[in-house]
Amino acid sequence: MTADPARTVLAAPADYARLCAPGQRMLTDAGLSVTLNPHDRPLTPEELLELAPRISAAVVGVERWDAELIAAAPHLRILAKQGVGLDNIDLDAAARHGVEVVNVPGGNANAVAEFAVGLMIAAMRGLVTSAESVRAGQWSRITGPELSGATVGIAGFGTIGRLVARRLSGFDVRLIAWDPYPDEEAARALGVELVSLDALVSGADVLSLHVPLLPETRHFVNADLLARMKPGSYLVNTARGGLVDEDALVDALSSGRLRGAALDVFAAEPLPVDHPLRTLPGVVATGHVGAESHEAYAAISVANATSIIAALTGPAASRKELS
Ligand code: NAD
Repeated sequence: MTADPARTVLAAPADYARLCAPGQRMLTDAGLSVTLNPHDRPLTPEELLELAPRISAAVVGVERWDAELIAAAPHLRILAKQGVGLDNIDLDAAARHGVEVVNVPGGNANAVAEFAVGLMIAAMRGLVTSAESVRAGQWSRITGPELSGATVGIAGFGTIGRLVARRLSGFDVRLIAWDPYPDEEAARALGVELVSLDALVSGADVLSLHVPLLPETRHFVNADLLARMKPGSYLVNTARGGLVDEDALVDALSSGRLRGAALDVFAAEPLPVDHPLRTLPGVVATGHVGAESHEAYAAISVANATSIIAALTGPAASRKELS
């Protein structure tokens, strides 16, 4: 028996069944049929075009939903992004075809925030260097400053920036933050001092980036800003690679101006194999995994399943069927 397209959901991300079981269960409990991506890679445009006529909803991963694909899906009602960024969906085409597009802002915020705190300690205490030395059969002695007692500067006091402050509340750190649209009440509640960008940069022992990547924030951390950072301080970036001028950062680390950097995001990902940030002492580099927690995937999958069930089986769905 072929599944009814009006009740069929495509789960496009390759790891959906493994990471999004709570959402998948909700969809099937609601009487919807879930078509999984059988590969361990994103679906190709050809595979998507073949599936498109047979679905009314999709959980969207990194694959592209362009105008041609959306037009090839006559039953499509909703595209639910597994995450935040909607740059791989043609929003105009979706609107033209009456396809609702939803995402889950903040769904992975805690995952990123606590990862940032982990990176701070990793960079300051040489955690990764020591672990690598033990794995290599050595036993190197590594010393570094404690996070407690340090001044942590938060650039971008939004969802993740605030969660970083909250997670750091037991660390006896001094918290300062800068944001072009400062929320003074949130700062007061979290014991954070809102300061100018200049005071943030020159006052922080650890500068943690949580601003969005926009044309005006590209290379936010450039040679000029790095020169104003406290000598011996650390940079942590879990936001976007484009925020940092990586050549200038390599110079600041090589000269010893910065003692270390912990980076989860890079201008080009994967980071090129011969990139100096892979090997420079003092750098902890991870592969854009800040958001990759079990809890974040589960929460996002539940939020998306809720939206899909409402779109396909709720009152709006029957109104649309009648129209
Ligand atoms: P948010 O929108 O809640 O907060 C961003 C903050 O930046 C806001 O307070 C805003 O006022 C401020 N801001 C706006 N325009 C600015 C500008 N021009 N200059 C400086 N600050 C500006 O966003 P969020 O959810 O807290 O995310 C913060 C960053 O984390 C984003 O760059 C996002 O892309 C990134 N992120 C990374 C991962 C990951 O996997 N590593 C996952 C989620 C989000």
